[in-house]
Amino acid sequence: PKSESAPDPPVAVELDGVTKRYGETAAVDDVRLRVREGEFFTLVGPSGCGKTTTLRLIAGFEEPTSGTVRFGGESVAGVPPEDRDVGVVFQSYALFPHMTVGENVAYGLNFADPPDGVTRDERVAELLELVDLPDAADRDPESLSGGQQQRIAMARALAPGPDVLLLDEPMSALDARLRERLRAQVKRIQSELSITTIYVTHDQEEALAVSDRVAVMNDGTPEQVAPPRTVYREPATRFVAEFVGDNNVFAGRVVESLGEGELAVDVDGGDETLRVAPGGGGDAGEGAPATNSPEVGDRIAFCVRPEHLRVASAGGAGGGETAAPVGENTLRATVASAEFLGETTRVTLDWGDRELLVRTVDPLDGAVAVGFDPSDGHVIDAEQR
Ligand code: ATP
Repeated sequence: PKSESAPDPPVAVELDGVTKRYGETAAVDDVRLRVREGEFFTLVGPSGCGKTTTLRLIAGFEEPTSGTVRFGGESVAGVPPEDRDVGVVFQSYALFPHMTVGENVAYGLNFADPPDGVTRDERVAELLELVDLPDAADRDPESLSGGQQQRIAMARALAPGPDVLLLDEPMSALDARLRERLRAQVKRIQSELSITTIYVTHDQEEALAVSDRVAVMNDGTPEQVAPPRTVYREPATRFVAEFVGDNNVFAGRVVESLGEGELAVDVDGGDETLRVAPGGGGDAGEGAPATNSPEVGDRIAFCVRPEHLRVASAGGAGGGETAAPVGENTLRATVASAEFLGETTRVTLDWGDRELLVRTVDPLDGAVAVGFDPSDGHVIDAEQR
């Protein structure tokens, strides 16, 4: 549902039908994106999907084969990176080892005067304060941890007061715990400055955690552009459903319309007829195909998150009566493997010749019954047949 309050901020960066080819491959394929002022916008997707190339086109390190990149509505074709008002942070910290931390940050000013009429030293102090390393000016970069070095790299990129901050996998060289801490810092710095930020990561959890909106990319094209909650709860395509978080995707044919939008679906590869209630169909965001209501005879795919599958030991020899009710849409499956994750256990079930993922608190073994509420099924595509 769209909020009716404040109008959207103006578009800061726009890609309009942008394609980048290297020989036969289109690394970026007819991409249309609009990033708004002050937005934390993330490009996420598997290796090779074109995230870095997209960022390099925005930064000006590459020029599109076709299409237009615009900053504030103006084409930046032919404008070199140093004239685009962007700050860029890469995966490797790339600090100069022979300079102090303070000198590294000052280098970011690149002979320009600092913004807001402050001196260079004042600007450096301001930035070190911002990245929460106020006493680091005289230190040697190599005496800092990886996460601290990345914060200095951010300070250096922010020194001249760019309009747009571009971050290319800035945390991928750090261990998991440091990454979590740094991402919270990055988010804080971004919102303190309200700076338009475009962030590249292959880590979907990181993307959900920090972004206002994410573009989930596959094969050079965003498949869905939407806020994290929408991407998670209402994935537009099967790819998005499976790339973002764990998911169970079912495909089948609609055999009956049960009223109030609820459908009975004969699921492929099993004897079960499952009920799914596609729900109100919120705004799935840009790039999402329009989900027309499926009708009897249509083939559809729908997904159910592992946390929405209720599971109970099937009890009794021969998998007779269920020990505990699991509600509607009951399936019978057997435990194939389990990974203990601390708060929950992620269990893989064999269901016919397919797998289901569930999350449980109590250990499970052997035959189980699985159920889900029809309203927890999300229809991801409707093909007319
Ligand atoms: P990763 O997370 O692995 O960096 P990515 O999503 O950032 O991947 P890109 O680096 O943008 O993907 O690459 C997209 C595609 O374009 C890949 O198939 C890559 O091999 C190809 N590609 C990128 N840069 C070049 C280049 N300079 N020359 C030839 N092919 C390239």
